[in-house]
Amino acid sequence: MISIVIPIYNEEENLPQLHKRLTDSAASWQEDYEIVLVDDGSFDRSADILRSLTDSDGHVHVVRFSRNFGHQAAISAGINYAKGDAVVIMDGDLQDPPEELHRFLDKWREGYEVVFAVRTKRKEHFFKRIAYKLFYRILSVISDINIPLDSGDFCVMDRKVVDVLKHEMPEKFRFVRGLRAYAGFRQIGVKYERHSRAAGEVKYTFKKLMALALDGIFNFSTFPLRLATYLGLTLAIPSFLVGIFFIIHRIFDFKVLGYSPSDTPGLATLAVGMFFLFGIVLLILGIMGEYIGRIFYEIKGRPFYVVREVWNRDLPKS
Ligand code: UDP
Ligand code: MG
Repeated sequence: MISIVIPIYNEEENLPQLHKRLTDSAASWQEDYEIVLVDDGSFDRSADILRSLTDSDGHVHVVRFSRNFGHQAAISAGINYAKGDAVVIMDGDLQDPPEELHRFLDKWREGYEVVFAVRTKRKEHFFKRIAYKLFYRILSVISDINIPLDSGDFCVMDRKVVDVLKHEMPEKFRFVRGLRAYAGFRQIGVKYERHSRAAGEVKYTFKKLMALALDGIFNFSTFPLRLATYLGLTLAIPSFLVGIFFIIHRIFDFKVLGYSPSDTPGLATLAVGMFFLFGIVLLILGIMGEYIGRIFYEIKGRPFYVVREVWNRDLPKS
């Protein structure tokens, strides 16, 4: 059986079309399927539509959160509830076309445990596209694992990978595409053209997007911490040498570039140097804070989502 996991946050305009296109595509797979829709605290008519979909179609299952917990939490919940031998993750705004899914499933049947989508084109603002490109490149340079470039959450995962994600990766700050890469197994990218949103506004606010990007960086890399060491060293070593030079200069009081220590030294240099150094110290404190904040949240062990109710049949509760 194939499970299709879709996070839904105020997608009332997209839900009927999403269900129709998905059902039409699924008919050609010749395999049983279920659609696991995770309602991430929607406050439009999404819940009503989901209710009627569950009533009319036995393939549809709905997990409803008690409030908005975010896209990554919704995906994780869907993964936890899905029963399929393969689990598909896709967005609810039809940016990931259901008609392409059979190509992904073919690769899965060939034996790949992770088939992830690689975007060839993005129909989004110029600035956003550049930001995405930049982010993925920085991430791939500094992260500990090999996160494929330009691949989002859209993918098919084998049950083996799903079980690893579900049982062996309990972290609360979830960057699912990173966890997926970490899990390993045979992975392959399939190219596709990312469409623009079928209807409605983007549900990812700038703040949420930034949080996601920071999760990607700080959850999969200790490079920023090491940056402190590198910066410290590049500043400390030359300073030390210059310091030694100053001592000698002071003792022997010779002229360098027309200046001898008995003249008054420049105040501006000192002030600039101080601000610069304090800036770096604060930056490094902030970076430390990112990690400590994450430790703080992880250690509390709060659930990263709370389920209000589950609609339709015998979904396992875990
Ligand atoms: N979404 C969610 N919770 C959120 C924000 C978004 O479940 O807090 C869902 C949304 O309904 C959509 C998917 O996540 O199905 C991707 O969101 P969106 O299209 O707004 O972002 P994009 O990835 O296109 O920038
Ligand atoms: Mg979208």
